[in-house]
Parts: sequence; C-alpha cells; structure tokens
Amino acid sequence: MALIVQKYGGTSVGSPERIKNVARRVAKFKAQGHDLVVVVSAMSGETNRLIALAKEIQANPDPRELDVVISTGEQVTIGLLSMALKELGVDARSYTGAQVKVLTDSTFTKARIQSIDDDNMRADLAVGRVVIVAGFQGVDAEGNITTLGRGGSDTSGVALAAALKADECQIYTDVDGVYTTDPRVVPEARKLKTITFEEMLEMASLGSKVLQIRSVEFAGKYNVKLRVLSSFQEEGEGTLITFEEDSNMEKPVVSGIAFNRDEARINVIGVPDKPGIAYQILGPVADANIDVDMIIQNVGQDGTTDFSFTVPKNDLTRTVKVLEGVQAHVGALNISGDDKICKVSIVGVGMRSHVGVASTMFRTLAEEGINIQMISTSEIKISVIVDEKYLELAVRVLHKAFGLDRE
Ligand code: ADP
Ligand code: ASP
Ligand code: MG
Repeated sequence: MALIVQKYGGTSVGSPERIKNVARRVAKFKAQGHDLVVVVSAMSGETNRLIALAKEIQANPDPRELDVVISTGEQVTIGLLSMALKELGVDARSYTGAQVKVLTDSTFTKARIQSIDDDNMRADLAVGRVVIVAGFQGVDAEGNITTLGRGGSDTSGVALAAALKADECQIYTDVDGVYTTDPRVVPEARKLKTITFEEMLEMASLGSKVLQIRSVEFAGKYNVKLRVLSSFQEEGEGTLITFEEDSNMEKPVVSGIAFNRDEARINVIGVPDKPGIAYQILGPVADANIDVDMIIQNVGQDGTTDFSFTVPKNDLTRTVKVLEGVQAHVGALNISGDDKICKVSIVGVGMRSHVGVASTMFRTLAEEGINIQMISTSEIKISVIVDEKYLELAVRVLHKAFGLDRE
C-alpha cells in the first residue's frame, strides 16, 4: 500500500466520459489499497477560452483579475471528478488551491509555490477518502488567488507529492511517456523507458511541454519519484525520471530533441562597443520582469556593435517599447523584433564525453539549407535559433542524424 499522487491533464479530463474514465482508474488504485491524492487540470481548451474571454474585456488583462478568471477551469473539474467517484461508490472530496492551502508568492499568472498545508489532505486520507485538488492554482499571503503559469498543474502535482512525501507522482497525459521528441511532430519518435532528471530538466526548459519545468525542478529538489504515463491506456510503465545515470546502459550521445515556438528575437543595432552596454540594454528589460533567454553580442567594428537576444513571444511588443524608452540613452541606431523564429535544441548527458556533436548538428542543418541565426550551448545541450518555417524539418532531420529513430 502506497501514497500516490496522480495528475491528469486537460485532454484526460476533456469530456464527461473522460472524467468518468479517470474516476474508474482512480477507483481501481483505491481498490488496491492505495491512498490517493488526485490533481486535475481544466478540461482541454478551457484555459485558452478563459484567457480569450478576459482579453475581450481588457486587451492586457489585469494580472490579479486574470488569475481569478483562469483559475476557474480547474474548479469545475475537481467538482466533476469528485462526483464521478461518488457515483462509483468511492468517497472523495475536492479542494481548490486556497482550500488546501497551496501558499504562493504574489506574482500573478506565474506564481511560485512557497509551502503546502497537508492537514486537510491527511485528515481525509486517514478516513479513506480520495482527495481531489485543483491544479495550476494557489493563494498568496493576502488571500489572493494566484496561478502557476501555463502547464502549472504538473507543478501542483509534484509539489503535493513532495509535501505529502508520496511514494510516487504519476503524471497522466495524452501520450504514454516522454519521447525522443514530440511524437506529434516526428512520428518516428520513440518512447524512453527512463530519462535522467538533468535531461528532463533541459528538455522541459527548452520547450517540451510534456512536463512544466518547475515540476521537474521540484522533483529534483525533493527527490520525488516521477513518472509520465498515458491516461488512455490500461497498461504501460510510462517513462520514469531517474536521478542516477544507468551505468549498465550504453547511453546515446543525444537523448532527445526539444523545440520552442514561443520565443521572439530582439535586435539592437549599432550600439557603442563599450563597457556597460549589455547592462544598459538588459537592465530595463529585467526591471520590466521580462525573461531573457539567448543573448548574442557581436564583435565590434568601427566602435559599434549589434546586440540580439530572445524573449517570450508574448513579451515582444512590451520589450520593444521598453527599449525604445532607453534607445537614446543607449545610443542604438535601430531596435527591431522578429517573432517568426523558433528554437531547436538537442539534449543528452552523453554529450559530455563526446566531441563533434555540434558539427554534426550544424552540418545536418546546412545540408537542408537551414540558416542558423543564433547558437547557445551548455554541457548537455546545444540550441539554435532558426526561421520558424523550418521547425519541423529541422527536428526531423536532427532526429534521424542522431539515430533517435533506431532502437
Ligand atoms: P496535459 O494536458 O496532459 O498536461 P500537455 O499537452 O501539456 O498535456 O503535454 C503533453 C504533450 O506534450 C503531448 O501531447 C506531446 O504533443 C507534447 N510533447 C512535447 N514534447 C514531448 C516529448 N518529448 N515526449 C512526449 N510528449 C511531448
Ligand atoms: N489549465 C492550465 C493550462 O492550460 C494548467 C495545466 O493544464 O497544467 O495551462
Ligand atoms: Mg501540460
């Protein structure tokens, strides 16, 4: 008998029939004698619908009020799942994030969890109830409703598992595990039996939305046993996120390919090539709470240089505005933005001990005539920025070039 936290994503609870299916699975685990805490997302499409609704009222919705609106999707599913369990004769009780309470900071729309009160959940488990918790949401110290960023129910699930010291956290979704790359883009992608925590962290941060990055961070920090599985299959081991590299296994150099369509590039042209320039450009961007990802400063010529960096697509207009505000002070000739780009990354702990990985990547892209606009590397990943129209082609040819389509 174990304490298991299960998280079901939007597609898995996308219709009344699917919610009943989830209830049947939960009931099956319960019948085996396990204690269960179940975290659910909003029904698929619901969060997008709520965001669009808010934008019809306010083009740039007030963040506090936006969280009030978009947190409602999850409240619907917890109630429905609890009802479905009662229909099966299983005692269950639903909780919003605030009811639990999942305490967060006050950064509306991307709040961070600070602590979780497990008293209510423990009391319910002790009397044999299944506990159902709304994912994606929490409450700040002043009692305001907060949300954890898109995909945040994964983080709710793992954080609850950490708080409860659960034996396992199972993330049920619409694919049966973590693949070498998104199986919707490359049909030849293969399911991985295991992936190291480090690799999963990179994959998530580089755009594989199968797990929200913060959920992986939580799993690492609190040593949560984390598994990704299908909610549509009865059997299957899914993919286990492991903390140690399996030394018995011949590790591939590249384990997976991630991509991200959600970034845009900013070009600051003709700035004086002198100390402090990077700070003068990026300082105001950071002050505006905009996350900067890749940064490139070119070698100066004639005393001036060009500076480029990427930001979330959503923040492109805001970033350009911020920079136009400091353009005269920085002394830049021109500021422009390009949102027709994407980032493609190869990830693998095997890259540590192999040379020539970058050149294979660049040759493969060159052979397809794909121009690389920016490059960034770390010990276990290489990322490139390319034109958005090449995304699928780039991912497919790299997947093949690194032998990820073979057993
Ligand atoms: P949920 O609603 O269950 O949270 P998401 O849509 O957030 O589901 O995440 C699952 C999706 O992640 C899959 O349908 C798949 O298209 C995508 N995905 C991206 N990269 C990968 C990968 N490497 N392995 C598996 N799925 C991936
Ligand atoms: N419903 C939220 C979203 O769509 C959270 C989640 O699904 O994880 O982003
Ligand atoms: Mg998700």
